[in-house]
Amino acid sequence: MIDYQASFSRASRALRESAIRKAADLEASSSELISLAPGFPDPAAFAWDELREIAQSILTGSDPSVLQYGQTRGYRPLLDVLSLLLAARGIRATLQETLITTGSQQALDLCARIFIDPGDVVVVERPTYTGAMTAFANAQARLAGVAQDTEGIDLDDLDRVAVRERRAGRRLAFVYVVPNFQNPTGLLMSPVRRAGLLEWARRNHVLIVEDDPYGALYFDDRATAEGTRPLKADDDEGHVIYLSGFSKIVAPGFRVAWIAAPAEIASKLEVAKQSADLCTGALDQRFVYEVWTRGILERRLPALRARYRQKWEVVEEALRRELGGLVSWPAPRGGFFLWASFPDRLNTDALLPRAVARGVLYVPGSAFYVGHAADNRARLSFSAASPERLVTGIQRLALAVREELASTTASEP
Ligand code: PMP
Repeated sequence: MIDYQASFSRASRALRESAIRKAADLEASSSELISLAPGFPDPAAFAWDELREIAQSILTGSDPSVLQYGQTRGYRPLLDVLSLLLAARGIRATLQETLITTGSQQALDLCARIFIDPGDVVVVERPTYTGAMTAFANAQARLAGVAQDTEGIDLDDLDRVAVRERRAGRRLAFVYVVPNFQNPTGLLMSPVRRAGLLEWARRNHVLIVEDDPYGALYFDDRATAEGTRPLKADDDEGHVIYLSGFSKIVAPGFRVAWIAAPAEIASKLEVAKQSADLCTGALDQRFVYEVWTRGILERRLPALRARYRQKWEVVEEALRRELGGLVSWPAPRGGFFLWASFPDRLNTDALLPRAVARGVLYVPGSAFYVGHAADNRARLSFSAASPERLVTGIQRLALAVREELASTTASEP
């Protein structure tokens, strides 16, 4: 008998599983379960008809490159239109400064590969996106959490953490932030905080990895749209590595995302990508390119924003009705998530089995914290489920919460 455990590398033995993927597996096991767990886009919002037409037109066989290996940097025409999309967000990026990746998740993994030596520090917001923590931790980074408030990352705490880590002789690999409708809190970082963070990075010679999958999905008005201006747009000295993608605005089944970074960094990322996958799927990139050039994305975005806004309203209303006084949240102004805080004594890890028994799934707050401390918060994704199922899901959650609170009160001395 071979002992496979002995065959695994030390690094692979330390690999962490994604808490959210596990939740998605649980969801797949029962259609009865209403999932408010993974941040999946609404499948009813995919451009099915247009995509069928695109499939017809690109799979004729007249252009073999559709199914061929491509350049590691990405499909050149897509890179060209990307520069327009970036310009619309205020970012000037040349071809040498952009790279298409297999989802933003790969972009996070590539950043981990090129910037992190074991023991290097990656600074993250508290809470933050689990997939990023997993990618950085798997490269054996030391994750250091920094507080945030409703304006975004706390710059004083950032200073304290940076000084503490540097005094201990550790290198800061980068600061990771999600300024637009953060996963999991839905928070939008204020313009002042953005400017402050950029200034902090300049002063301290630290890189920022800015992850922006949700920026286009704002709910209200032009003011919010302007509030989503990426840090990268004002990054005159090349401190920011900007990540974004098409998962939330076209479909995540096309694993197409991109990085805009200083040319030297983009080259290094390209080399790291060569060993990861040679190139992002050619067919996927072609689809996304056609979605862009046929104007499908531009035409559909307003309805997409309205759809997610409506779902957010449905969830807020249901929460007020079902759990008024027992739950609070910072109002999201875009994106997929509502960050719910329950009474202090309610532990959302402990609540989860009860919620699943009642037929609803969410992600406990602890999944989003460095160190995984148990917590009274939960991330509720309102993006994927239909409005009717969202309401039923919140009713089930309310039942579980009331039962759990009753049982914790009963067991208290
Ligand atoms: N970053 C954040 C903040 C996310 O929420 C997600 C998806 N949940 C990703 C990156 C990865 O997205 P993808 O790989 O589909 O581009």
